[in-house]
Amino acid sequence: MLNIILGGAPGSGKGTISELIMNQYGLQHLSTGDVLRAEIKSGSVLGQEIDAIISKGNLVPDSKMIDLIENYLNNLAPDCKGVIFDGFPRTVEQAKALTELLTAHNMDAVMIDLYAEESVIINRLINRGKTSGRADDNLETIKKRLDVYQTQTKPVCEYFLNLRKYFMVNSNINPTCTFSQIEALLTMMNK
Ligand code: AMP
Repeated sequence: MLNIILGGAPGSGKGTISELIMNQYGLQHLSTGDVLRAEIKSGSVLGQEIDAIISKGNLVPDSKMIDLIENYLNNLAPDCKGVIFDGFPRTVEQAKALTELLTAHNMDAVMIDLYAEESVIINRLINRGKTSGRADDNLETIKKRLDVYQTQTKPVCEYFLNLRKYFMVNSNINPTCTFSQIEALLTMMNK
């Protein structure tokens, strides 16, 4: 199995790159942001709570996110070739829980971190906001999300670096360029 934790700040290209990896390697794509947005769309009480958190650019509590991942892993098809974790883990607490859950399922994962400069990211998100309809793609919330990323999510990189499971690729240019670095990395790892 090939399991990839796709890291990087909001706007670093995780969604786009996930699709390219998914098509090339036949992996499943789990975007926690997409799952949360689907819950909001359902109009449930939980969805309303999540909406209030996401639209301010804050993180959904760890316990809710870890339950979501546990449930996902418990229901994984036996013939699954692997999973791309897009948007999870976003805290060290979530990273520790994921490591435990993967071990319990006899699975392993590497983190591939997409690095893009802040000015590039802000431009991408502002442009995406013109068509995405996402409540969090506006300048004020983007700045808050980048702040949350630096303080709460960046330490996740160090966590996987210490486990020797961390790789960084340059995501400043375009998706093709980012993806070719990932292909080279996976070839080097014999995946
Ligand atoms: P994304 O689509 O990955 O940019 O996620 C959109 C928003 O969903 C984030 O800004 C958070 O509010 C929330 N979210 C997604 N994944 C997580 C997570 N692993 N932990 C906490 N909140 C999350």
